[in-house]
Amino acid sequence: MGIEGENLNGVLSANEFLTRANLMRAYDEQYDTPIYVGKKVVVVGGGNVAMDAVRTAKRLGAEAVIVYRRSEAELPARVEEVHHAKEEGIEFKMLTNPTKVLGDDKGWVVGLNCVKMELGEPDASGRRSPIEVADSDFQIDCDVVIMALGTSPNPLIAATTDSLETTRRGCIVATEDGQTSREGVFAGGDAVTGAATVILAMGAGRKAAKAIDNYLKTK
Ligand SMILES: Cc1cc2nc3c(=O)[nH]c(=O)nc-3n(C[C@H](O)[C@H](O)[C@H](O)COP(=O)(O)OP(=O)(O)OC[C@H]3O[C@@H](n4cnc5c(N)ncnc54)[C@H](O)[C@@H]3O)c2cc1C
Repeated sequence: MGIEGENLNGVLSANEFLTRANLMRAYDEQYDTPIYVGKKVVVVGGGNVAMDAVRTAKRLGAEAVIVYRRSEAELPARVEEVHHAKEEGIEFKMLTNPTKVLGDDKGWVVGLNCVKMELGEPDASGRRSPIEVADSDFQIDCDVVIMALGTSPNPLIAATTDSLETTRRGCIVATEDGQTSREGVFAGGDAVTGAATVILAMGAGRKAAKAIDNYLKTK
């Protein structure tokens, strides 16, 4: 988020929270990899992962709130996900942007400072960009803040592989068949498209497998 206080105890990325909750079975008291859920969780973001995180927090016993800087019409999450989250009792605070995570003297989260937003002109993505409303600061009391602000490919491969072309957003450039700018190197899935879906990644894997087979047979 790039805001003050984001290194306080109780601030988590959605992926860490969900990995702990699901893969490390933090929901099960018999496992010795617990998770700190707190009493009130604020999830910052409006995508499918934000919906996963907020509903998981709620199921782990917390009061759970979504904070999103645009309006409901701009929510990137699938309509079904939003519908299900509301059905489950998730509160949505729209047109709200966090400006500072507040902590106590022991370094634990105690709240989130936010400002109100209004929608301006559409930006490059075609969505109306949010503009801060002057003097609209307010505070949400909470003990956990989960950031669900989107994911991008790990920059390691691009940084260490010569002549592998990547986009401005760090995604590997590849053809429909997965061929990258480096001969004999194929890529597909989120690393190429940015965060997408399992089925698209699987499709890319199949296409790339075919192209790799063809490459090996003809080279
Ligand atoms: C919380 C969350 C919820 C989601 N929910 C859904 C959903 O409901 N439905 C849906 O369709 N999609 C969902 N997605 C998206 C979906 O998980 C991804 O689109 C999909 O996993 C992409 O597959 P992939 O194989 O491209 O990448 P990944 O699944 O990310 O696999 C890439 C693998 O490469 C490994 N790796 C990275 N760098 C290296 C390296 N240098 N060397 C070796 N290995 C490396 C990683 O460890 C990882 O195992 C969700 C994603 C998240 C984060």
